[in-house]
Amino acid sequence: MLSLFSVAGQRRIDEIVKPGLLCVFDFDGTLSPIVAQPDQARLPLGVRRRLLELSKLASVAIITGRSLADIRPRLEFEPDYTVGNHGIEGIPGWEGRSESYERLCLEWGKKLCESLQDETRYEGVQVENKQYSLSVHYRLARDHKKIEQKLLELFGSISPPFRVVPGKCVFNLIPPDAVNKGNALERLMQVSNASSAIYIGDDFTDEDVFALKRKDLMSIRIGITSCSAAKFFIAYRAEVMQVLDDLIRRLRML
Ligand SMILES: [Mg+2]
Repeated sequence: MLSLFSVAGQRRIDEIVKPGLLCVFDFDGTLSPIVAQPDQARLPLGVRRRLLELSKLASVAIITGRSLADIRPRLEFEPDYTVGNHGIEGIPGWEGRSESYERLCLEWGKKLCESLQDETRYEGVQVENKQYSLSVHYRLARDHKKIEQKLLELFGSISPPFRVVPGKCVFNLIPPDAVNKGNALERLMQVSNASSAIYIGDDFTDEDVFALKRKDLMSIRIGITSCSAAKFFIAYRAEVMQVLDDLIRRLRML
């Protein structure tokens, strides 16, 4: 991985920023700090101001694991595209694809909640039904390693099976044939007629975007790691502000 602020990173951003740029962001851990209670996450004022400025100069999209109903009030501004449930919700033209997922999520949610009633085994675990996918949060559990193991065992016993995508103190349970953030980003580039795109994300679900190898896409991961397909990184979430300022400056010069 190379730093966005390296010579190679700056060269790449020179190529990517041009008329028709689509700027795409994950939400939690990228635009908004990770918080102990996921329902307390908000878009910081400084980030919102910059996104508003950016949206006057380029198309802006948010692709998040949250549901659309959950993310919209947290943004307090209207991006050109808001995509929820890891790409399942909010993609123009894909509206009918998710109907069967709702029934599946109800069934999975019911089975999980029955097992999770055993609080001695699963203390600190919360299930969130996001209509088209589920999130099982365990940030409040005492021993994260232990609870991860117990939850994975439990998931394996549930039928029909789902795709388990780990996150930061959360397991995302997703219908096996559902689209991912990578599919969503490519579709957004198509419908917005984008000439290029830039993506910033911080987590495992963003790897579906990082794995896309396209000349017209630059993806940036928050935090350096050896197990990511992202080519570029910034070290800290706070540097997103700097990236937004740089994008605004570059777009104004076009
Ligand atoms: Mg994230």
